[in-house]
Amino acid sequence: MALGLKNSIVPCTPKGIISILQRYDRELFGKHTVVVGKSNIVGKPLANLIMEKTHSTITICHKETKNLQEFTKQADVLIVAAGVPNLITEDMVKPGSIVIDVGITRIEDQTKKSGFRLVGDVDFENVKKNVSLITPVPGGVGPLTVASLISNTLEAFTNQNQRLIEETTQKSQKAIP
Ligand code: NAD
Repeated sequence: MALGLKNSIVPCTPKGIISILQRYDRELFGKHTVVVGKSNIVGKPLANLIMEKTHSTITICHKETKNLQEFTKQADVLIVAAGVPNLITEDMVKPGSIVIDVGITRIEDQTKKSGFRLVGDVDFENVKKNVSLITPVPGGVGPLTVASLISNTLEAFTNQNQRLIEETTQKSQKAIP
């Protein structure tokens, strides 16, 4: 994946995030992307994919980063995958930037039937006033992760069963009078 080789399966959450970015600004030429979080399932593969698929400059922050705000305020694209509710507040984002919230945390909420609600890492209500694009939680990155999982499953099956697919296609074409 890091080398951008064909037939390599891209981890689902980073794949979904890249699809959002590419819909809005395919190349991110000269932009600064800041990723908060460096886990194996989100931060690391995501940083690799951004390097591979875009022309933006990348900074990776994590829990030992001193003065996180200094970095996040420089971000044209800010992607947060820390698992810390309200980590990113209004004063930490650049006006007009794109903010992708990956975080999902269950917090207690007795007004809900389930007794909890899901929140992201970004103070959505306040940050949204200042940015050009922001993904909500729930309903943002999560559904795209699911969509990527389905597309990866099909891709993996296709990679492994090319001959079977060709034979089946030929048979079904022959069956058409
Ligand atoms: P993780 O715990 O493995 O990694 C968290 C990363 O965030 C670490 O690199 C850590 O250094 C960094 N971090 C923690 N606290 C920080 C702080 N205060 N400041 C800066 N950096 C900090 O978690 P993960 O598996 O990468 O998941 C992160 C979040 O994303 C979780 O809330 C998880 O539920 C969510 N998630 C969502 C999806 C989705 O589809 N939306 C998929 C995967 C994970």
